[in-house]
Amino acid sequence: MNFEFHNPTHLIFGAGVLSRLGEVVGRHGKKALLVTGGGSVKRSGTFDRAVASLKAAGVAWVECDGVEPNPRISTVRRGAQIARDEHCDVIIALGGGSTMDASKVMAAAFYYDGDPWDMILHGQPTPHIPTRALPLITVPTLAATGSEMNMGAVISNEATKEKSFVQAKCLYPRVALVDPELTKSVPRDQTAYGVCDLITHVTEAYFNGVDDTPIQDRFAEGVILTAMEWGPKALADGNDLEARAQVQWASIVALNGWVNAGTNGGYPVHMIEHTLSAYHDITHAAGLAVVNPSWMRFAARHRPHKFVQFAERIFGLTAKDPADLECALEGIDRFESFLKEIGCPTRLAELQIDDGLLTRYAQDTLRVIHDANGNLPGRPAMTEADIVAVLKAAL
Ligand code: NAP
Ligand code: FE
Repeated sequence: MNFEFHNPTHLIFGAGVLSRLGEVVGRHGKKALLVTGGGSVKRSGTFDRAVASLKAAGVAWVECDGVEPNPRISTVRRGAQIARDEHCDVIIALGGGSTMDASKVMAAAFYYDGDPWDMILHGQPTPHIPTRALPLITVPTLAATGSEMNMGAVISNEATKEKSFVQAKCLYPRVALVDPELTKSVPRDQTAYGVCDLITHVTEAYFNGVDDTPIQDRFAEGVILTAMEWGPKALADGNDLEARAQVQWASIVALNGWVNAGTNGGYPVHMIEHTLSAYHDITHAAGLAVVNPSWMRFAARHRPHKFVQFAERIFGLTAKDPADLECALEGIDRFESFLKEIGCPTRLAELQIDDGLLTRYAQDTLRVIHDANGNLPGRPAMTEADIVAVLKAAL
């Protein structure tokens, strides 16, 4: 595949870099909209340290707090309004992926007179792709999404039960200020979900991409192996800064465009999960942990060689031949066992989701995103019946 790669986000990574927030923000604006989630940054002391740094640099700020997990379009509207009313000229996202995603769309909504939901792909013929946004500085407090250094944002519409995404170049943060110290307070379950999310970002590229991408495959395997090695260490001791840093770097590499450059893959597992989150407001990666192994078993039958490679390189298995389905499935079983071991659910029942609406989930997923044949993009593309079958196998 021919491809272009340009990620303009300036990454500053390291323990203690939060103290540079004021200096960094001051290069991009004078008055910041400081966006936060449900209060974890206040409890951990991160908020006070961030504000002290802004004060020392003479940067004014106004807060938009209360961004919820699975951030809502109503919150995006509220934040954009505050930014306008208060004449902000820069946005700081201080929190997890939800806070960062909401901040991105607030930054674009600042310049858009229509409803920001127009920007989110949800089956409309031509979504409004923003071309202008306020400068955004991301300060992630949770290692998972990689949103701090990519151009995507995922937003939920509570009124229509939809959850979907926007991707636009203007949404790349200007600076990602990544301080792994801030992730020490992430609870066990969210730490595990972060590991699952970052691994799923690369498995989507790995299994849905074109063939013959040897460097991209090795990058993806490197991310997976790193997450599987260091994730359990971060879970065993949340204050292990080395482990926190390795996991966070892995989460950034996983989705800053580098691993999937030129692979031209789809994100079927994410797309199906978004529908489950839209209906049940479940944690993103809890849904991924359920859907991904089931999707893998479906896809392995269509494309065994890639799953054999995964089984051999990630779990050290030996295949009889490059299309050895038994070996491919053994690799998937081991992957599912890893997810269970770190504490992720792997069945829909664990998320209190039953078989009542499986067809509806499939139809809604396809309504949000489909190819020219009406199928879910990926390798293989999925029909409605395929999606139902994958969900059924995950009950
Ligand atoms: P999150 O939804 O931002 O946060 C999950 C929970 O963790 C919240 O309750 C949050 O509390 C808490 N938390 C965050 N940092 C903490 C800390 N340092 N200490 C203690 N608690 C902390 O989680 P996320 O996994 O980062 O983001 C998930 C969202 O991102 C989903 O909507 C998902 O669809 C989306 N996503 C986006 C991308 C992308 O590329 N843009 C990729 C994958 C997924 P507070 O709210 O109180 O802070
Ligand atoms: Fe994700």
